Amino acid sequence: MKAVAVVPGVRDSLHIRDVPEPRAADDEALVRVLETGVCGTDVDINQGLFGDAPPGSDFLILGHENLGVVESAAGLLRAGDLVVATVRRPCPDACPACRVDQSDMCLTGNYTERGIKSLHGFMAARYVETPRYLIRVPEALRKLAVLLEPMSVVEKGIEQAWRIQQRLPWEPRRAIVLGAGPIGMLAAAVLRLRGLEVTACAREPSGLTKDQHLAAAGIRYVSTSETPLDELAERVGLADVVFEATGAPEVVFPATLLLERNGVCVLVSVTLGDKPVEVDAADWNQHMLIGNRLVFGTVNAGRGHFETGGRDLQAAEERWPGWASRLITRRLPFHEAKAALAHTPGNIKTVVEWPA
Ligand code: BGC
Repeated sequence: MKAVAVVPGVRDSLHIRDVPEPRAADDEALVRVLETGVCGTDVDINQGLFGDAPPGSDFLILGHENLGVVESAAGLLRAGDLVVATVRRPCPDACPACRVDQSDMCLTGNYTERGIKSLHGFMAARYVETPRYLIRVPEALRKLAVLLEPMSVVEKGIEQAWRIQQRLPWEPRRAIVLGAGPIGMLAAAVLRLRGLEVTACAREPSGLTKDQHLAAAGIRYVSTSETPLDELAERVGLADVVFEATGAPEVVFPATLLLERNGVCVLVSVTLGDKPVEVDAADWNQHMLIGNRLVFGTVNAGRGHFETGGRDLQAAEERWPGWASRLITRRLPFHEAKAALAHTPGNIKTVVEWPA
């Protein structure tokens, strides 16, 4: 069968290759891939900056955002069920988190991730998986379900923020989302669904299709090329929740300065490379401490976050019909995967399609 693969550590190594058909063990489902989403992590892996091949393999099948259809049943899954697979698998050390099915919180760092770290991914015609890592999705979500993996990352960040904030009396009203890629836009939508007033910021000038798209869900767009981050609070006010999803390391410290007293800043961007910044530590510490402000990092997601993500995609669809599916701005056949990873202006989410 065909697969889209890279040689980790080698720049621009993406290629299509023939790989053996996977065989499902008795307790595994065989899944035919319908769609795989492309994200910044895939681009970083193809640049040789991130990712590991499975032990004994000199290549890695790419792809962790996925939607497929079960071909051979296993557990409670039946042939024909639409499924999305989670990404991370537990460490071999049975750490306290992995032991209780929370490998997204793995303590050892020895976890594996499909399409990223030591396990082949989903950019292939078929894959096998044990049912506990497969989320069944309703037919009604068919057009959106490839967004479920990035949505799960958003849900984990927001769920944790709300849980952590049980530390105090908190009635969040305003959110600022930094970054208007798929993660930023999905986060902005979820925060709107939670009833907050939301401003999304990115570098692109205002007045383009992206801000009209955001406006359709009642989200304000501010271009940081027009209103620099240090002037943003004057314009929109400080935020109870700041969601940092730009991928730009230089934004991380300024993001925390946008917090209202008692506010919480969620960091979700995986940033690579060197980017030393100079910070007035006394001033920053004062700001965080005097206002009981909080910043935390979050990565990956568990099964429950995929389930919440499915419910929120459905809720978004009911409230703003067609909004979420319009985040998918490009669909390319798998043999154009190289083009799928290339940046194109105005693009939000690219999806790679697999033939029946
Ligand atoms: C994926 C996560 C993964 C992270 C780090 C992200 O792109 O969505 O599932 O944990 O990369 O590898």
